[in-house]
Amino acid sequence: MSERIYDVIIIGGGPGGLTAGIYTARENLRTLLLDKMLCGGWLNMTGVIENYPGFPEGINGMELGARFKEQAQKFGVGVRELEEAKGVDPSGEMISVETAKEVYQTRSLIVAPGSRVRKLGVPGEEEFLGKGVSYCATCDGPLYRDRIVAVIGGGNAALEEALFLTKFASRVYLIHRRDKFRGEKYVVGELEKTGKVTFVMNSLPISINGNNEVESISIKNKVTDKNESIAVEGVFIFVGVEPNTEFLEGVIEMDEEGFIKTDVNMRTSVASIFAAGDVRSGNVRQIAAACGEGTVAALSVRNLLVDY
Ligand code: NAP
Repeated sequence: MSERIYDVIIIGGGPGGLTAGIYTARENLRTLLLDKMLCGGWLNMTGVIENYPGFPEGINGMELGARFKEQAQKFGVGVRELEEAKGVDPSGEMISVETAKEVYQTRSLIVAPGSRVRKLGVPGEEEFLGKGVSYCATCDGPLYRDRIVAVIGGGNAALEEALFLTKFASRVYLIHRRDKFRGEKYVVGELEKTGKVTFVMNSLPISINGNNEVESISIKNKVTDKNESIAVEGVFIFVGVEPNTEFLEGVIEMDEEGFIKTDVNMRTSVASIFAAGDVRSGNVRQIAAACGEGTVAALSVRNLLVDY
């Protein structure tokens, strides 16, 4: 077999991709995993994870990602980091996967490239990136010790990152566009307990303002129609995610937001291509769910390739 021919290539080294690799490698399927960055995906930007089973005391995200990777490599997955898939061509006998370094051939493909942050799209967001605007509390939170910050969003990411920020900031304004949070009620309760969070509901950010660095955020209250400016030094934005599927455009079927459509076996619209994790339409963006989907995708590959 040529060096560049694989039984399965996995694109993405987050929980879904690494779990899939553990399963395919244990079936003796020649498995290559590509990650455009370092394995771990979102785990690398997550502090303590408390809802992944088996760790009642919680586990650091980066550590969990490192353990997933170690386990995949132990069973023989070839891991290539900093190697981005640029294109996929399933039209030949084998599927070809092109990166900047190589063109690989594979009998099957599991795509698990995950998602990236969605931008808010207000004036000041781009201008003050790294000067007060952030998409990662784990990375930048410690810079805001005894300072006032705003968190935008009402999902789990916003709630959890706001809670993390209360460890450092003197006050956290949690700004959400509706009167109900999308994220877990448990975390809302934890936020209330800190006494450090001001809940700013029914409010839309209009602009992020400052000179060299962020000095305030302007918001519009949707109920009263009034505008208000809140003095803050940091603005943390968590308004959802977008799929990393550009390299698959025109290759497999996606929903209107670019997430990949699959059946219950994680099969995509193209035979021999499967998808798992955040990139999948209908995925709930949980680590345990991504692992489950990676497992199903790997077993589908096994059913396709392995004769019993
Ligand atoms: P999300 O659940 O889609 O929430 C995005 C939030 O941003 C929503 O509250 C939304 O408001 C708000 N939003 C969207 N566009 C906006 C805009 N232009 N202006 C102002 N607000 C805007 O996204 P997420 O929090 O990133 O979470 C994504 C998925 O990951 C979810 O399934 C979540 O459960 C999961 N997740 C889980 C954990 C965990 O379990 N520990 C941690 C992080 C994320 P509306 O509510 O009005 O739509």
